[in-house]
Amino acid sequence: MNHSIVIPENLNNQLKKQLIRKDGQEDLCFALYKTGTGKERISAIINEIILPTENDRNLHGNVSFNPEFLDRVISSCRSKQMGIIFIHSHPGSGWQNMSMDDINAEKELAPRIKAATGYPLVGMTVGNDGSWSGRFWNKTAPKFYTRVWCESVRVVGDRFNITFDDNQFPKFGLIEELTRTISAWGQNKQAVFSKLKVGIVGLGSVGSQIAEALLRTGVAELKLIDFDIIEKKNLDRLHGANSSHIGLLKSNVFCEILNKNRLFPGQRVTSVPYSIVEKEGFESAIDCDIVFSCVDRPWPRFILNMIAYAYLIPVIDGGISASINSKGTNLYDARSRTFTVTPTKRCMKCMGQYRPEDVSLEQTGMLEDPKYISGLAEDHFALKGENVYAFSLGLASIQVQQFLGIVLAPKGRLLGPKEMDFISGTIDSDFPYECENTCEMPEIVGIADDIKNILITEHKIAKQRRENANELTAKNGYNHTSKGVISFIKAVLTKILYYFNKQGNN
Ligand SMILES: [Zn+2]
Ligand SMILES: [Zn+2]
Repeated sequence: MNHSIVIPENLNNQLKKQLIRKDGQEDLCFALYKTGTGKERISAIINEIILPTENDRNLHGNVSFNPEFLDRVISSCRSKQMGIIFIHSHPGSGWQNMSMDDINAEKELAPRIKAATGYPLVGMTVGNDGSWSGRFWNKTAPKFYTRVWCESVRVVGDRFNITFDDNQFPKFGLIEELTRTISAWGQNKQAVFSKLKVGIVGLGSVGSQIAEALLRTGVAELKLIDFDIIEKKNLDRLHGANSSHIGLLKSNVFCEILNKNRLFPGQRVTSVPYSIVEKEGFESAIDCDIVFSCVDRPWPRFILNMIAYAYLIPVIDGGISASINSKGTNLYDARSRTFTVTPTKRCMKCMGQYRPEDVSLEQTGMLEDPKYISGLAEDHFALKGENVYAFSLGLASIQVQQFLGIVLAPKGRLLGPKEMDFISGTIDSDFPYECENTCEMPEIVGIADDIKNILITEHKIAKQRRENANELTAKNGYNHTSKGVISFIKAVLTKILYYFNKQGNN
């Protein structure tokens, strides 16, 4: 299991103000966290910070706290179902290691915190440049606690900042395949992409293009989350797909295509043939640092909105609205919209991307009933399917630009929502910034696993599609997944042979 920590941007500002001192003196404080459990990663999501008073700690170059301070922290944590984080600062920059004193102090704290809260102690250190490091102290045997370093610490709000434990990632040198890309924003920014985990929910005409673009931008890990299969009617909009793919799972097909296009050995594309409302799909999404929403139904949008707020994972949403004129003789209107959802920005519901009553309707399963569908008004969202390859390309492009915007923040600027109007050729970026006063989303910020079991459920249609696709695969004697594994092993073997050849030549 990997580990990570998320800090809301406003709390990060308070922490930096308290801990990074001009005189170089180290300082400390505590914080409370909720747990976010993914399939491969556990995250501590900071909900509250507890700053010391004058008498709570002793400053002497190093820093130590008085027992009363810890007592106060533990009692304030009671009945809140939260874990405790011990935080201190260092005068250096970048991901901070621990001194022998640090290790001893946290080792001593770990059993007490675990006993008092039921959750493992998390330790964090901030450098004088605002970079974080973090570790979990997991109980691995009676009275025995093991330190596990986090792979990353993420700060999420208007901006997205991430510090990685470089020891856990392959060394990233100049990659010739990415020369032009690196020349646009430099090696350091590229190094961020080379460690980032990105989820794409919905592998239709937009999601599949986004996946291709992210792969070629040098993003380390892509998780393709979609339960649906490729149909004949999709072939006018799915780059790389052809009639031999009909009936197969989109996530498997694109996983195989993309794995052939990888730019460096550390790149990884995985297929998650599940709905975002199913446990597998949901947990795979929260394993990611950033998630793309490329779905057109209200239920998955609702779940992704929740993930952005409860787990502090930026979600980049996009949608196309196109329509034909009343006579059916020509295109009438086409617009593409994209924006990034984080807990400090307007949510998907307030942006009008879904209506709660439509989520309930979709959950009943009635939208799959042809009888019910035939009785719907013509402009009902369930009947709308107008789309054209060119519009998908346009949306995929501006959605990926949102992603570049939050990771790079060029000139310190942030990209707000954008809506492209095909006919007028204009881009509208004038949208309200915050949620409506009546919106309940701000109340769930950082609650993480508290909401997980309410959100995940069985999804009959997703299950059915997987079964159908697997039957077809078995019938054709052609297994995409195992083929993917074989090509991966081949790639590794080629790499090893290349290395030994090079050694031999030297
Ligand atoms: Zn220290
Ligand atoms: Zn809202």
